[in-house]
This record gives sequence, C-alpha cells and structure tokens, in this order.
Amino acid sequence: MSETILEVDLANPLLPGESTVLTLNFNGQVPLLIRRSGRNSKEGVALSMAQWYPKMAEYDYDGWNAEPYLGREFHGVWGDFDVTLKLDKKYVVAASGYIQNPKKVGHGYSDKKGRSKKGKLTWHFVAPNVHDFTWSADPDYIHDIYAGPNNVVLHFFYKNNPKIIDGWKRLQPKTAELMSFYNQAVGEYPYNQYTVAQGGDGGMEYAMMTLITGERTFGSLVGVTAHELAHSWFQHILATNEMKHEWMDEGFTSYISTMAVDKILEKQKTFPIESSYRGYLYLAQSGLEQPQQTNANRYEHNIAYEITAYNKGAVFLGQLGYIIGADKLTTTLKEYYNDFKFKHPTPNDFRRVAERVSGLHLKWYLTDWTQTTNTIDYGIKSVKSNAEGNTSITLERIGLMPMPLEILVNLKDGKKKIYYIPISLMRGEKENPYNIKWSVLKDWPWAFPEYDFIIDENQKEIESIVIDPTMYMADINRNNNEFPASK
Ligand SMILES: [Zn+2]
Repeated sequence: MSETILEVDLANPLLPGESTVLTLNFNGQVPLLIRRSGRNSKEGVALSMAQWYPKMAEYDYDGWNAEPYLGREFHGVWGDFDVTLKLDKKYVVAASGYIQNPKKVGHGYSDKKGRSKKGKLTWHFVAPNVHDFTWSADPDYIHDIYAGPNNVVLHFFYKNNPKIIDGWKRLQPKTAELMSFYNQAVGEYPYNQYTVAQGGDGGMEYAMMTLITGERTFGSLVGVTAHELAHSWFQHILATNEMKHEWMDEGFTSYISTMAVDKILEKQKTFPIESSYRGYLYLAQSGLEQPQQTNANRYEHNIAYEITAYNKGAVFLGQLGYIIGADKLTTTLKEYYNDFKFKHPTPNDFRRVAERVSGLHLKWYLTDWTQTTNTIDYGIKSVKSNAEGNTSITLERIGLMPMPLEILVNLKDGKKKIYYIPISLMRGEKENPYNIKWSVLKDWPWAFPEYDFIIDENQKEIESIVIDPTMYMADINRNNNEFPASK
C-alpha cells in the first residue's frame, strides 16, 4: 500500500492477451461529506457515494496510471458494472446503472406503493461500458423521470424541499434540450439513461450521472447541469486522461456547455465565451500561469489550475475556430468524438483531426498554447502615407506566440476592407469568414518581430484600423490593436 494505491503482485505474470480475475473484499466507513463524497451533505442528502470502491488503475501506452486521487480529476478503465446495494428500506437510490429489479424497489422505478419502511431492501444496478460507478441515497428524495432525446430516460432526484421543487421541475425539459444540443454538436450520447441527483458538493460528473448541490437559482441549476452533463462526452466517453490533459476535459466541457446554455436560456450573446477569455487574460498577466500541459495535481496555485483547465481550455477551442474557421471547428469536434470515443485521446489526437479537417498545420498551436506560457500580443506600430499616395502599415509582434492576423480597415466613406496575414507555420489559410472580400497578404515568418504591408487607400481616407475585430484571438493587450490608438 502506498498512499491510496494498493499494489498487488500476481502469482503468475500476465502475458499479453491473457486475463485474470481479481477479487477484493473491503470494509469502509462512510465519512461526513469530504469534498465530493460522504454522508450528510450541507443540503441534508444522506449518502453521496462517489469514489467509494477500490478502482483498477488504467494501464495503457503510458504504463500504469496509478496516481493518487486528490478529490479532483480521475481517470479509469471502462468495464461493465454489476452492483447490488443492500440498504435500509427508507432510502431512495440514484445510481449510474440501469435498475434491474424496479418492481421490487418501487420509488418511481415502478409504481409499487405502500411498502413497509422496516428492514433492508436490495437494489440491483447494471452499468455497461463505463469507467466509474456512483450512487446517492436519501429517504426524502423525490424521483422524477423525463423523456430525453433518442429514447434516453432522464432521472431526477432531489430533496422534498418546497424551496427547490419548482426549479428542479423546470430543469427537466432543459436537461433534455441540453442533451439534444450535445448530441448535435459533438455526437450521440451512447447510453439509455442519465441521472441528475442532488448530492455531494458543488457539481461533479460521474458515469451516466451527476451529483450537484440543489439549492440554487434556476440559472445556476441549468448552468451546473449543462456543465456536468457535457462531461459525459469529454470525461466519460472520450475520457482523456484529465490528470495529464485537464484542459481537454474541463476546457472543452466549459466551451460546449457555455454555447449550449447561451442557446437554451436564449441569452444570444454575440460572444458567449467572453468570460473564458477574460479569465485567461487575467491569468496570463498575473505571473501565476504555468503551461497548460502541467499535471492537474502539480500547479502551485489552485487559481492557475482552474483558469488554465477551464478558461484557457475553452479559449483553445474558441481560438481554434478563429484559426481554422468556425465551421471547420464544428466538424473537427464531431469527427474527434466519432474517431476517439472510448479511446482516451491525447492532445495530439485532437490536433491531427483538426489538421485533417482544415488542411492546415497546427503543431505550432499546440506547442505555443499548451506547452508554454507564451502570450499573443500584436500591435500596430505605424501608419504612414507613402510617396505613391498609398498607406504603409507596420505591425509588430510583441508576444512570443505567433498567430495569423485579420486586419479590418474602416474607410471614411463607410466601406470596409479585410486583410489576412497567414503565418508560414500553417502552410495555408482558412476560408474567408466575412461577407466582404478579403485580401490574403504574404506570410508572416513567425520569427520576424515586424511586418510591413501597403494598402491602396490614402491615409486621409482611413477612419480606423483594427487587428482582430472578432476578438477571438486572445491578445493580452488590445490597446495597441487599433489605429488611431484607443483612449
Ligand atoms: Zn467540470
């Protein structure tokens, strides 16, 4: 035994292709709720049973993934879970798997009524092809069932607390809409059931279910459910090792759930993931940032871990849409899911899909954005009339990270022009996303700190010049992105 890891020496070595059976008897005591798991949550949920059994460590191309569980990210082995729980009859149980004896347990799993509350009751669940099995139980749970998309059955368990019942009822159709959104944006949910249960602390994703705190405003209830449900795709089905590549789970989940909530709650923001950009820009200038490839458990500051995983991870996708085009990003996400579900993909796997979809080289993007803390900062250095009556513009690259640039020129007569400067590292450029013609200029060799180009107009005709009018490039200092300089 080493910290939380048990090492077992096999009597005989296990050769490739062979199998063995491990049987483990264990006793545990359910503690008062500690972070994710335990009894008597703040909101009075009796049992929040996450991370409650000895788990097999994953063995893969990386060797043994036997990292201690710190109440945060986890990685696991897919398998079929067959779980029998014998509990006092008073409890209603929510769990990862499909109930096998609904007639016997009643409680909304069947319409059986009038059971005695004395003695024990056995609950039998089966969860196929999951890498985790979680359950929760409470004597006062209300259990509702709602029909989700593609015949998926949605289960909701929440305390019989008059203050929250209305919100939890209204959450049910929204959860179905969220699932439809993810089915469309990423790929089809492969299980027949998903459960939202009040329990634990904050919100945490588990296989086929989530435990969330329930005493929330409606917006917060939808927001947390959107986030945890989206994890089904990234943490449970794709299941990147989120201790190593936390941003591919938390970041992609944040990105897609923010887009979903924007649509489902009809917020219709022009820039839904703006707050992710704001978070990242704050961190990039805080002096606390560590490279995104840092192991989730090795950050010096928790805030650096959180912003890097969630915000910078969401910006990774938002900005990739800027680099390869929004439609190509949409296709990339779908192909990525289709190609890598149940395979534990790595950052490189995602990059290769994006490259195949876009036809552009993206190794540089992974290098600068995920392996360093290099920042993006481009500026307009000078704008001058030249002898021919045209205008010479000099741009400068102040940050170390290269990016292709989109330059908007607003003319005094109201006309607009867009110039696009590719970087040679990409070996190509995206399609014009604007509904006006754009001019593709010569590549900016990434090592050069300055870049000059000439536009046909006389300087007197120019109202303003803006680097990246979309704001999807995470430039850490936008003050130098405009001419004339913004006050
Ligand atoms: Zn999350």
